[in-house]
Amino acid sequence: MPCLFCKIVAGEIPSNKVFEDDLAYAFRDINPQAPTHILIVPRKHIASLAETGAKDKDMLGYLHLVAGRIANSEGLSNGFRTVINTGPDGGQTVDHLHVHLLGGRPMHWPPG
Ligand code: AMP
Ligand code: ZN
Repeated sequence: MPCLFCKIVAGEIPSNKVFEDDLAYAFRDINPQAPTHILIVPRKHIASLAETGAKDKDMLGYLHLVAGRIANSEGLSNGFRTVINTGPDGGQTVDHLHVHLLGGRPMHWPPG
């Protein structure tokens, strides 16, 4: 297994799982930046948004659908933020595509 999030998806590294199905896996961030901070990842390894192509459009949409459903189940009725960091300038530190779901406090704009 080549990467950290692949190992989490495979259950080789423990995680605080929130959701899983055949396409996606969601778990709580180990270093939360908000009262709710969940990562939604595709089960299949793909390094980043920069590596995606037309074949990934359903998966990309689905990750966001799952994020919205989790936001509802987490009770984030006052709003939330979804973020995908890509590459060094985007602040990506784990090279397995993931959507951050952040909520439970007001977010700031512009981001740092
Ligand atoms: P990014 O910087 O966008 O690549 O996000 C990577 C995220 O993964 C960071 O918010 C980390 O806190 C989180 N993270 C790293 N290792 C783990 C882990 N073992 N379990 C849960 N979250 C992790
Ligand atoms: Zn991976």
